[in-house]
Amino acid sequence: MADEERSRKELTLEALVEGKKMEAYVEHRTRDMHVCALCEKVGYKKCPMKCVGKRWICLDCLRQLREVLDTLEQWEAEVQLEREMSKKIDDGLGL
Ligand SMILES: [Zn+2]
Repeated sequence: MADEERSRKELTLEALVEGKKMEAYVEHRTRDMHVCALCEKVGYKKCPMKCVGKRWICLDCLRQLREVLDTLEQWEAEVQLEREMSKKIDDGLGL
């Protein structure tokens, strides 16, 4: 019974030490920490993040941005078409 209690205490202590180690690690890493300006994902120095202007942006968001930029012309054309169409409809309705 006494042995069991002691080992339980040791386990708790071990967990506490591990927790402290983790805290220290996190604190140490916080200095290199960046938060993605777009998705708020937390990244560290070694995580793929790029500084754009004053903001950090993660690789995932940059990929999405590239996709948007790649299709920007097409998108602009679509928006333009939609505008023209709704203008025509408005004109047709005499608005
Ligand atoms: Zn992101």
